[in-house]
Amino acid sequence: MNQMAEMTCVLCPGDHQVEVATTAIEHPGPGEMRVRTMASAICGSDLHHYRTSQRVRSERGWSQYAIGHESSGIVDAVGPGVHYPSEGDRVVVFGLLGCGHCKHCRRGEPMFCKGSRHFSRHQHGTDSAYLVAPARNALLLQDDFSFEMGVLLSCNVGTAYGALRKAKPSGDRILGVFGLGPVGLACVLLGKAHGASVVGIDPSADRRNLALHLGGDEAVDSAASDLLEHLEAFSGGDGLHATIDTSGQPSARGAAIDALRVHGTCIEVGVGHDPSIAPSEQILFKEITIRGSWLYKQYEWESLVEFVRRHQIPIENLITHRFQPEDAAEAFELANTATSGKIIFDWSQA
Ligand SMILES: [Zn+2]
Ligand SMILES: [Zn+2]
Repeated sequence: MNQMAEMTCVLCPGDHQVEVATTAIEHPGPGEMRVRTMASAICGSDLHHYRTSQRVRSERGWSQYAIGHESSGIVDAVGPGVHYPSEGDRVVVFGLLGCGHCKHCRRGEPMFCKGSRHFSRHQHGTDSAYLVAPARNALLLQDDFSFEMGVLLSCNVGTAYGALRKAKPSGDRILGVFGLGPVGLACVLLGKAHGASVVGIDPSADRRNLALHLGGDEAVDSAASDLLEHLEAFSGGDGLHATIDTSGQPSARGAAIDALRVHGTCIEVGVGHDPSIAPSEQILFKEITIRGSWLYKQYEWESLVEFVRRHQIPIENLITHRFQPEDAAEAFELANTATSGKIIFDWSQA
Protein backbone atom coordinates (compact mmCIF):
# COMPACT_ATOMS: atom_id res chain seq x y z
CA MET A 1 0.00 0.00 0.00
CA ASN A 2 2.91 2.37 0.61
CA GLN A 3 3.45 3.20 -3.05
CA MET A 4 -0.20 4.30 -3.38
CA ALA A 5 -0.52 6.13 -0.07
CA GLU A 6 -1.24 9.46 -1.75
CA MET A 7 -3.46 10.58 -4.60
CA THR A 8 -4.14 13.61 -6.77
CA CYS A 9 -7.34 15.56 -6.20
CA VAL A 10 -8.91 18.89 -7.24
CA LEU A 11 -9.95 21.49 -4.66
CA CYS A 12 -12.14 24.58 -5.16
CA PRO A 13 -11.42 26.74 -2.09
CA GLY A 14 -13.61 29.62 -3.36
CA ASP A 15 -13.16 32.96 -5.14
CA HIS A 16 -12.68 31.16 -8.50
CA GLN A 17 -9.55 29.42 -7.21
CA VAL A 18 -8.65 25.85 -8.19
CA GLU A 19 -5.87 23.79 -6.60
CA VAL A 20 -4.55 20.45 -7.79
CA ALA A 21 -3.39 18.85 -4.55
CA THR A 22 -2.05 15.63 -3.11
CA THR A 23 -3.80 13.93 -0.22
CA ALA A 24 -3.85 10.60 1.57
CA ILE A 25 -5.72 7.69 0.02
CA GLU A 26 -8.37 6.55 2.49
CA HIS A 27 -9.27 2.96 3.32
CA PRO A 28 -12.91 1.91 3.00
CA GLY A 29 -14.60 1.35 6.35
CA PRO A 30 -17.48 -1.04 7.14
CA GLY A 31 -20.13 -0.84 4.41
CA GLU A 32 -17.89 1.25 2.15
CA MET A 33 -16.13 0.77 -1.16
CA ARG A 34 -13.14 2.51 -2.70
CA VAL A 35 -13.33 3.34 -6.40
CA ARG A 36 -10.34 4.06 -8.64
CA THR A 37 -11.78 7.01 -10.56
CA MET A 38 -11.53 6.75 -14.36
CA ALA A 39 -13.71 9.72 -15.36
CA SER A 40 -15.31 12.62 -13.53
CA ALA A 41 -17.12 15.73 -14.72
CA ILE A 42 -17.87 19.34 -13.82
CA CYS A 43 -21.51 19.94 -12.87
CA GLY A 44 -23.28 23.29 -12.61
CA SER A 45 -23.60 22.75 -8.87
CA ASP A 46 -19.78 22.53 -8.56
CA LEU A 47 -19.68 26.10 -9.84
CA HIS A 48 -21.47 27.28 -6.67
CA HIS A 49 -18.39 26.09 -4.74
CA TYR A 50 -16.09 27.65 -7.33
CA ARG A 51 -17.82 31.06 -7.24
CA THR A 52 -18.52 31.33 -3.51
CA SER A 53 -16.08 33.58 -1.67
CA GLN A 54 -13.59 32.06 0.74
CA ARG A 55 -15.07 34.28 3.48
CA VAL A 56 -18.61 32.90 2.96
CA ARG A 57 -17.25 29.36 2.67
CA SER A 58 -15.55 29.64 6.05
CA GLU A 59 -18.69 31.22 7.59
CA ARG A 60 -20.70 28.22 6.39
CA GLY A 61 -18.08 25.79 7.66
CA TRP A 62 -17.41 24.33 4.22
CA SER A 63 -14.35 22.12 4.42
CA GLN A 64 -11.54 21.77 1.95
CA TYR A 65 -12.48 18.46 0.40
CA ALA A 66 -12.03 17.46 -3.23
CA ILE A 67 -14.77 18.91 -5.44
CA GLY A 68 -17.23 16.89 -7.55
CA HIS A 69 -20.09 14.39 -7.29
CA GLU A 70 -20.04 12.78 -10.75
CA SER A 71 -17.74 9.83 -11.43
CA SER A 72 -17.25 6.35 -12.79
CA GLY A 73 -14.44 3.92 -12.18
CA ILE A 74 -13.35 0.50 -10.95
CA VAL A 75 -13.87 -0.80 -7.42
CA ASP A 76 -10.38 -1.44 -6.03
CA ALA A 77 -11.22 -2.29 -2.40
CA VAL A 78 -14.25 -2.90 -0.19
CA GLY A 79 -14.63 -2.56 3.56
CA PRO A 80 -15.73 -5.19 6.10
CA GLY A 81 -19.19 -6.65 5.52
CA VAL A 82 -19.50 -5.56 1.89
CA HIS A 83 -20.78 -8.28 -0.46
CA TYR A 84 -21.67 -5.95 -3.33
CA PRO A 85 -19.97 -4.56 -5.33
CA SER A 86 -16.77 -6.58 -5.66
CA GLU A 87 -13.21 -5.59 -6.44
CA GLY A 88 -12.86 -5.12 -10.20
CA ASP A 89 -16.49 -4.14 -10.82
CA ARG A 90 -17.04 -1.19 -13.16
CA VAL A 91 -19.36 1.26 -11.40
CA VAL A 92 -20.93 4.68 -11.44
CA VAL A 93 -21.04 6.31 -8.01
CA PHE A 94 -24.50 7.70 -7.20
CA GLY A 95 -23.86 11.33 -6.27
CA LEU A 96 -25.99 11.72 -3.13
CA LEU A 97 -25.11 10.42 0.32
CA GLY A 98 -28.18 9.51 2.37
CA CYS A 99 -28.14 7.98 5.85
CA GLY A 100 -28.94 4.61 4.27
CA HIS A 101 -31.67 3.53 6.67
CA CYS A 102 -34.52 6.12 6.75
CA LYS A 103 -37.68 5.52 4.68
CA HIS A 104 -36.44 7.77 1.86
CA CYS A 105 -33.07 6.05 1.60
CA ARG A 106 -34.71 2.61 1.73
CA ARG A 107 -36.89 3.69 -1.23
CA GLY A 108 -33.81 4.71 -3.25
CA GLU A 109 -34.62 8.42 -2.84
CA PRO A 110 -31.75 9.71 -0.67
CA MET A 111 -32.34 13.28 -1.91
CA PHE A 112 -35.17 13.52 0.65
CA CYS A 113 -33.09 12.12 3.53
CA LYS A 114 -33.01 14.43 6.58
CA GLY A 115 -29.54 13.13 7.46
CA SER A 116 -28.03 13.50 4.02
CA ARG A 117 -24.38 14.41 3.60
CA HIS A 118 -22.64 15.73 0.52
CA PHE A 119 -19.57 14.91 -1.50
CA SER A 120 -17.05 17.77 -1.30
CA ARG A 121 -18.80 19.28 1.73
CA HIS A 122 -18.58 16.44 4.25
CA GLN A 123 -16.03 14.18 2.56
CA HIS A 124 -13.82 14.08 -0.52
CA GLY A 125 -15.74 14.43 -3.77
CA THR A 126 -15.28 12.69 -7.08
CA ASP A 127 -12.53 14.84 -8.61
CA SER A 128 -9.97 12.60 -6.96
CA ALA A 129 -8.02 9.57 -8.13
CA TYR A 130 -9.64 7.38 -5.45
CA LEU A 131 -13.08 7.83 -3.91
CA VAL A 132 -14.38 6.19 -0.73
CA ALA A 133 -18.19 6.02 -0.69
CA PRO A 134 -20.96 3.84 0.74
CA ALA A 135 -21.12 0.54 -1.16
CA ARG A 136 -24.89 1.11 -1.59
CA ASN A 137 -24.01 4.05 -3.92
CA ALA A 138 -22.56 1.65 -6.53
CA LEU A 139 -24.50 1.52 -9.80
CA LEU A 140 -23.22 -1.24 -12.08
CA LEU A 141 -21.75 0.02 -15.37
CA GLN A 142 -22.07 -2.67 -18.01
CA ASP A 143 -19.27 -3.36 -20.48
CA ASP A 144 -21.00 -1.75 -23.47
CA PHE A 145 -20.89 1.62 -21.69
CA SER A 146 -17.59 3.53 -21.53
CA PHE A 147 -16.47 5.27 -18.34
CA GLU A 148 -17.24 8.59 -20.07
CA MET A 149 -20.79 7.42 -20.76
CA GLY A 150 -21.02 6.31 -17.14
CA VAL A 151 -20.07 9.71 -15.77
CA LEU A 152 -22.58 11.38 -18.13
CA LEU A 153 -25.33 9.08 -16.88
CA SER A 154 -24.39 9.61 -13.22
CA CYS A 155 -25.93 13.11 -12.97
CA ASN A 156 -26.25 15.04 -16.22
CA VAL A 157 -28.18 12.58 -18.43
CA GLY A 158 -29.81 11.00 -15.37
CA THR A 159 -31.19 14.37 -14.28
CA ALA A 160 -32.60 14.95 -17.76
CA TYR A 161 -34.13 11.46 -17.76
CA GLY A 162 -35.83 12.06 -14.40
CA ALA A 163 -37.27 15.40 -15.58
CA LEU A 164 -38.46 14.01 -18.91
CA ARG A 165 -40.33 11.18 -17.20
CA LYS A 166 -42.44 13.90 -15.56
CA ALA A 167 -42.73 16.05 -18.73
CA LYS A 168 -43.98 12.99 -20.67
CA PRO A 169 -42.53 13.85 -24.10
CA SER A 170 -43.95 11.98 -27.09
CA GLY A 171 -44.42 12.36 -30.83
CA ASP A 172 -47.51 14.52 -30.46
CA ARG A 173 -46.12 16.84 -27.79
CA ILE A 174 -44.02 20.00 -27.99
CA LEU A 175 -41.30 20.50 -25.37
CA GLY A 176 -39.43 23.67 -24.43
CA VAL A 177 -36.06 23.39 -22.66
CA PHE A 178 -34.98 26.57 -20.85
CA GLY A 179 -31.23 26.68 -20.22
CA LEU A 180 -28.95 24.75 -22.58
CA GLY A 181 -26.13 23.81 -20.25
CA PRO A 182 -25.23 20.10 -20.13
CA VAL A 183 -28.52 19.12 -18.41
CA GLY A 184 -30.61 21.17 -20.85
CA LEU A 185 -28.70 19.74 -23.81
CA ALA A 186 -29.35 16.24 -22.45
CA CYS A 187 -33.07 17.13 -22.21
CA VAL A 188 -32.96 18.07 -25.91
CA LEU A 189 -31.18 14.82 -26.84
CA LEU A 190 -33.48 12.56 -24.81
CA GLY A 191 -36.60 14.58 -25.68
CA LYS A 192 -35.92 13.90 -29.36
CA ALA A 193 -35.39 10.20 -28.59
CA HIS A 194 -38.90 10.23 -27.08
CA GLY A 195 -40.16 11.65 -30.40
CA ALA A 196 -41.16 15.12 -29.17
CA SER A 197 -40.70 18.40 -31.03
CA VAL A 198 -38.10 20.27 -28.98
CA VAL A 199 -37.21 23.96 -28.78
CA GLY A 200 -34.21 25.09 -26.70
CA ILE A 201 -33.89 28.53 -25.10
CA ASP A 202 -30.57 30.06 -23.94
CA PRO A 203 -28.69 33.38 -24.13
CA SER A 204 -25.52 31.71 -25.49
CA ALA A 205 -25.34 31.33 -29.29
CA ASP A 206 -22.75 28.55 -28.81
CA ARG A 207 -25.14 26.56 -26.67
CA ARG A 208 -28.07 27.17 -29.02
CA ASN A 209 -25.92 25.79 -31.85
CA LEU A 210 -25.06 22.76 -29.71
CA ALA A 211 -28.79 22.14 -29.14
CA LEU A 212 -29.45 22.22 -32.88
CA HIS A 213 -26.44 19.95 -33.50
CA LEU A 214 -27.90 17.44 -31.01
CA GLY A 215 -31.18 17.34 -32.93
CA GLY A 216 -33.22 20.18 -31.44
CA ASP A 217 -35.86 21.50 -33.84
CA GLU A 218 -35.44 25.16 -32.92
CA ALA A 219 -33.24 27.29 -30.66
CA VAL A 220 -34.27 30.72 -29.40
CA ASP A 221 -32.33 33.49 -27.64
CA SER A 222 -33.76 33.83 -24.12
CA ALA A 223 -32.97 37.56 -24.26
CA ALA A 224 -35.25 38.10 -27.29
CA SER A 225 -38.00 40.59 -26.49
CA ASP A 226 -40.50 38.49 -28.46
CA LEU A 227 -39.48 35.17 -26.84
CA LEU A 228 -43.03 34.15 -25.85
CA GLU A 229 -44.45 35.08 -29.27
CA HIS A 230 -41.69 33.02 -30.90
CA LEU A 231 -42.48 29.98 -28.74
CA GLU A 232 -46.21 30.36 -29.38
CA ALA A 233 -45.57 30.40 -33.13
CA PHE A 234 -43.34 27.30 -32.83
CA SER A 235 -46.17 25.52 -31.02
CA GLY A 236 -48.66 26.34 -33.78
CA GLY A 237 -50.50 28.86 -31.62
CA ASP A 238 -51.62 27.05 -28.45
CA GLY A 239 -48.36 27.09 -26.48
CA LEU A 240 -46.02 24.29 -25.38
CA HIS A 241 -47.26 21.04 -23.84
CA ALA A 242 -44.36 20.90 -21.40
CA THR A 243 -41.37 22.97 -20.36
CA ILE A 244 -38.27 22.13 -18.34
CA ASP A 245 -36.26 24.90 -16.69
CA THR A 246 -32.66 23.89 -16.05
CA SER A 247 -31.34 27.45 -15.72
CA GLY A 248 -32.66 28.55 -12.33
CA GLN A 249 -32.84 32.10 -13.73
CA PRO A 250 -35.96 34.05 -12.64
CA SER A 251 -36.81 35.35 -16.13
CA ALA A 252 -36.49 31.86 -17.65
CA ARG A 253 -38.52 30.26 -14.86
CA GLY A 254 -41.31 32.76 -15.43
CA ALA A 255 -41.21 32.28 -19.21
CA ALA A 256 -41.23 28.48 -18.79
CA ILE A 257 -44.62 28.87 -17.07
CA ASP A 258 -46.04 31.49 -19.44
CA ALA A 259 -45.06 29.55 -22.59
CA LEU A 260 -47.34 26.64 -21.61
CA ARG A 261 -50.68 25.86 -23.19
CA VAL A 262 -53.81 25.00 -21.19
CA HIS A 263 -53.14 21.93 -18.98
CA GLY A 264 -49.39 22.22 -19.68
CA THR A 265 -46.68 21.03 -17.29
CA CYS A 266 -43.55 22.89 -16.15
CA ILE A 267 -40.70 20.90 -14.58
CA GLU A 268 -38.29 22.73 -12.27
CA VAL A 269 -34.77 21.29 -12.45
CA GLY A 270 -32.39 24.24 -12.09
CA VAL A 271 -31.52 25.49 -8.61
CA GLY A 272 -31.26 29.26 -8.55
CA HIS A 273 -33.15 32.45 -7.88
CA ASP A 274 -36.92 32.39 -7.43
CA PRO A 275 -39.24 34.52 -9.58
CA SER A 276 -42.45 36.04 -8.27
CA ILE A 277 -45.45 34.10 -9.54
CA ALA A 278 -49.06 35.27 -9.90
CA PRO A 279 -50.93 32.02 -9.14
CA SER A 280 -54.31 33.16 -10.52
CA GLU A 281 -53.03 34.52 -13.80
CA GLN A 282 -50.19 32.09 -14.44
CA ILE A 283 -51.42 28.81 -12.93
CA LEU A 284 -55.17 28.79 -12.25
CA PHE A 285 -56.51 30.26 -15.50
CA LYS A 286 -54.62 27.66 -17.60
CA GLU A 287 -54.82 24.80 -15.06
CA ILE A 288 -51.12 24.16 -15.46
CA THR A 289 -49.00 21.84 -13.31
CA ILE A 290 -45.61 22.79 -11.85
CA ARG A 291 -43.44 19.90 -10.63
CA GLY A 292 -39.98 19.63 -9.18
CA SER A 293 -37.48 17.02 -10.32
CA TRP A 294 -34.30 16.30 -8.35
CA LEU A 295 -31.65 14.16 -10.03
CA TYR A 296 -33.16 10.67 -10.58
CA LYS A 297 -34.00 7.86 -8.24
CA GLN A 298 -31.53 5.05 -7.65
CA TYR A 299 -34.20 2.52 -8.70
CA GLU A 300 -34.43 4.28 -12.10
CA TRP A 301 -30.80 3.41 -12.98
CA GLU A 302 -31.54 0.26 -14.96
CA SER A 303 -34.37 1.87 -16.96
CA LEU A 304 -32.16 4.92 -17.66
CA VAL A 305 -29.36 2.70 -19.01
CA GLU A 306 -31.81 0.60 -21.02
CA PHE A 307 -33.45 3.70 -22.55
CA VAL A 308 -30.08 5.03 -23.74
CA ARG A 309 -29.05 1.61 -25.05
CA ARG A 310 -32.34 0.79 -26.80
CA HIS A 311 -32.48 4.13 -28.60
CA GLN A 312 -28.71 4.20 -29.21
CA ILE A 313 -28.61 7.78 -27.94
CA PRO A 314 -25.18 9.32 -28.66
CA ILE A 315 -24.79 10.84 -25.20
CA GLU A 316 -21.01 11.24 -25.74
CA ASN A 317 -21.91 14.11 -28.08
CA LEU A 318 -22.77 16.13 -24.96
CA ILE A 319 -19.02 16.29 -24.21
CA THR A 320 -17.33 19.32 -25.75
CA HIS A 321 -14.09 19.36 -23.72
CA ARG A 322 -11.81 16.80 -22.05
CA PHE A 323 -9.08 17.75 -19.56
CA GLN A 324 -6.37 16.07 -17.52
CA PRO A 325 -6.81 16.74 -13.77
CA GLU A 326 -3.68 18.93 -13.64
CA ASP A 327 -5.43 21.36 -16.00
CA ALA A 328 -8.47 21.69 -13.71
CA ALA A 329 -8.11 25.48 -13.34
CA GLU A 330 -8.52 25.91 -17.09
CA ALA A 331 -11.48 23.51 -17.09
CA PHE A 332 -13.35 25.41 -14.35
CA GLU A 333 -12.59 28.73 -16.00
CA LEU A 334 -14.23 27.41 -19.17
CA ALA A 335 -17.22 25.97 -17.28
CA ASN A 336 -17.74 29.35 -15.63
CA THR A 337 -18.30 31.01 -19.04
CA ALA A 338 -21.55 29.00 -19.48
CA THR A 339 -20.87 28.49 -23.18
CA SER A 340 -19.72 24.85 -23.34
CA GLY A 341 -21.27 21.40 -23.28
CA LYS A 342 -20.11 18.80 -20.77
CA ILE A 343 -16.53 19.04 -19.46
CA ILE A 344 -14.89 15.74 -18.49
CA PHE A 345 -11.73 14.88 -16.53
CA ASP A 346 -9.74 11.81 -17.62
CA TRP A 347 -8.31 10.18 -14.48
CA SER A 348 -7.00 7.04 -16.17
CA GLN A 349 -3.38 8.27 -16.00
CA ALA A 350 -3.61 10.16 -12.70
ZN1 LIG B 1 -24.09 16.91 -11.09
ZN1 LIG C 1 -31.78 8.56 4.91
